[in-house]
Amino acid sequence: MNNNDIVKVFAPATVANVTCGFDILGFPLENVGDVLTLKVVKEKQIRITKIEGFDLPYEASKNVAGVVIQKLVEDLEIGFGFEVEIEKGVKPGSGIGSSAASAAAAAFAVNELAGRPLKTKELVKYAMEGEKLASGISHADNVAPSLVGNFILIRSYDPLDIIRLDSPADLFCTLVHPHIQVNTKDSRKILKKQISLELAIKQWGNVAGLITGINLSDYNLIGRSMNDVIIEPTRSILIPMFDKIKEASIRAGALGCGIAGSGPSVFAFSKGKKMAMAVNDIMREIYRNIDINFDLYVSKISPKGAFVIKNGN
Ligand code: ADP
Repeated sequence: MNNNDIVKVFAPATVANVTCGFDILGFPLENVGDVLTLKVVKEKQIRITKIEGFDLPYEASKNVAGVVIQKLVEDLEIGFGFEVEIEKGVKPGSGIGSSAASAAAAAFAVNELAGRPLKTKELVKYAMEGEKLASGISHADNVAPSLVGNFILIRSYDPLDIIRLDSPADLFCTLVHPHIQVNTKDSRKILKKQISLELAIKQWGNVAGLITGINLSDYNLIGRSMNDVIIEPTRSILIPMFDKIKEASIRAGALGCGIAGSGPSVFAFSKGKKMAMAVNDIMREIYRNIDINFDLYVSKISPKGAFVIKNGN
């Protein structure tokens, strides 16, 4: 144990999948995410005492933060309990990693209070326990970028192999979150279990192109590669105006556009803030016309993952 018995941390919202990179690619947004305060208590139990922002379970075994903390308590053989407060900055079911932000924040905070026995990358598998609770699948493409920062490639799940990629300096994300509910569990159920070799070849060509484009800061290659021929055709039907947003954003000069996570949020990449703001205006205009409430974000790819806001009282 270190001297502090309370820590306040932030973990960012994230965009997973990133068009062709289903389950293997994600990145964090700037300035939007969850704040979690963790306090050491003598009684060996995990109590969630406050959740601000959205209505979520207080029972530790039903909240992703509680599940993640429990797993770390067991594995690190921690001999005390915790009180948890969560300020939700990310709406559940938004497609920008609401459960992941809480899971990443929880893992990061426990590690801090335990004197950092684990490296940030090692926390990913713990945060994945939270994703398992939220969606039934312990995917890492939200929790890894939320913990580590920058574009994250999950090369393999078994064994877990996480690669942090540099982000092109002038790459901006514009994201619209229409206020309709798309549950990750449901949007996974509709996916086809079998795909043709022809589609698989197209998809892995695009994944390789996208990763190379990110690595070389080749904006044109990024744009050419942002093409998901497997998941998007099935999932986009759940998102109002998806085709129109994509077509109008690209026509205006965005590099590419796709579903954020499992939706309903939609994101576009642009070179430069000016273009990202123009795409922002286009997305606003489209949703304004169909009377759906929405939030809009323009963000760089955040180089920062989870971090400590305040240590101690
Ligand atoms: P997202 O992709 O935005 O995380 P999901 O639909 O995958 O949204 O997950 C939200 C689910 O996880 C909901 O059923 C929600 O009740 C549950 N959940 C449990 N704890 C949390 C938490 N701390 N934050 C967000 N969602 C949580």
